[in-house]
Amino acid sequence: MAKFKIIYDRDACIGAAACAALDPKRFEMNTDGKADLLKGKETKPGLWVLEVNDLGEAQEAADGCPVDAIKIEEL
Ligand code: SF4
Repeated sequence: MAKFKIIYDRDACIGAAACAALDPKRFEMNTDGKADLLKGKETKPGLWVLEVNDLGEAQEAADGCPVDAIKIEEL
């Protein structure tokens, strides 16, 4: 069972790239200027979710996002 859920609102992303700098294993900038949550699943249009056991740097990415597009939930 995964312990955390990373929830990424891609529509909210303004392309500041902080997430990709802080957590390059999970976030990568796309050519459209927005970040992608790597290995995430789009559960609703624009909303991407990834369940993980190990948060890694995801909390830093969430904290660093200027528009709060990344949320972490404990499962
Ligand atoms: S830090 Fe936030 S606004 Fe910047 S690219 Fe990542 S998700 Fe988008």
